[in-house]
Amino acid sequence: MSKFSDFNFSGHKALVRVDFNVPLDADFNITDDTRMTATIPTIKKILADGGSVILMSHLGRPKEGPTDKYSLKHLVKHLFGLLNVENPNPALGDPATRVFFADNCIGDQAAMTASMLRPGEVLLLENLRFHPEEEKGDEAFAEKLSRLGDVYVNDAFGTAHRAHASTAVIAKFFKPENRMFGLLMNAEVLSAEKVLHGSEKPFCAIIGGAKVSDKILIIENLLQRATDIIIGGGMAYTFLKARGGKIGASLCEDDRLQTALDILEKAKQKNVSSHLPEDAVIADKFAADANTEVRPSDAIPDGWMGLDIGPKATGIFNEIIGKSKTILWNGPMGVFEMEKFQNGTKSVAESVAASTANGAFSLVGGGDSVAAVNKFNLADKVSYVSTGGGAMLEYFEGKVLPGIAAIKD
Ligand code: AMP
Repeated sequence: MSKFSDFNFSGHKALVRVDFNVPLDADFNITDDTRMTATIPTIKKILADGGSVILMSHLGRPKEGPTDKYSLKHLVKHLFGLLNVENPNPALGDPATRVFFADNCIGDQAAMTASMLRPGEVLLLENLRFHPEEEKGDEAFAEKLSRLGDVYVNDAFGTAHRAHASTAVIAKFFKPENRMFGLLMNAEVLSAEKVLHGSEKPFCAIIGGAKVSDKILIIENLLQRATDIIIGGGMAYTFLKARGGKIGASLCEDDRLQTALDILEKAKQKNVSSHLPEDAVIADKFAADANTEVRPSDAIPDGWMGLDIGPKATGIFNEIIGKSKTILWNGPMGVFEMEKFQNGTKSVAESVAASTANGAFSLVGGGDSVAAVNKFNLADKVSYVSTGGGAMLEYFEGKVLPGIAAIKD
């Protein structure tokens, strides 16, 4: 593989896999463009070198071939805007970056437009997943895509855990020196490696969110490395019930009670301190206008449910975070989408930010904790916010990500 920042793209047509899987509203307005803005530096570097860029991405999960709802054509205008924020007035001699669109990612039109692309120009291809071959990792499809460019750049960390045609299989059609990670992918990989393999101790992993079953593998892998594991959010109640607690109507996976006990036992054996919330903000219904009380998290009355960590738990968690040198955070501490149950998550976010200001390295990864740091305006106060939810999770589960392996092999 080559190093992206050292590569001179002058005269090259770079085929760049991006993750433009952005949320759209009913009128096809982009409601959160983080994934697009995250990859703009990669695109701009190629253009600035005098190369051209062919962008490929998926959008949503189209099941029945081409569908207007999932068309990447809805993104063209916004992409044009993002690429041209710094030269808003072409009439003054600063020509705007032109963005073309091909309404099929393979075929004659895509091939023709790609071949006619001039240095400084961008072509966005239609949704890769309009072809079922993409998700099947079909070789012939990958080969067709590969013909559109002469170098392959993977900047889609969010799909690096999938062995799809455009994320992994395609790499083999490029010589090792003509394939590389883009700037975003590289930053994601470096931050993840720093946490998992170069973590300064104490290393605290904060794991929250709804389901234990989603997080078992990540916790087990982190038990090999972490000093402290904080378990919050809905998943904590399965652990609390397994330990004999009364959790009322809180979220619980009854088929994971033994798993929860096993995890706590393994932590003990490995000298990892595991921390469950001592108290909880409980509610009489799952609603923004519920009645609430603070109770010990293992003594929740029937019919009530824990929807946030309580003030005691928050204090203890904050203290642990405060003394940590490496922090990994995945999953909120409560139903932070509702104001009454956001305090625990907000406070943890603030502690992670404060610890970062004191020199800790902090990585926030996984959809909902990212949404939380964004909600509390703390994204720029942590060391790294990962854009790749599922991929980051699988990385921390200890898996080899096909999108990374394909570039490196
Ligand atoms: P995950 O995708 O597994 O990280 O879960 C995130 C979701 O878990 C968020 O939408 C939260 O609202 C939800 N959540 C967090 N804590 C709780 C809780 N105590 N009870 C129910 N849902 C929760």
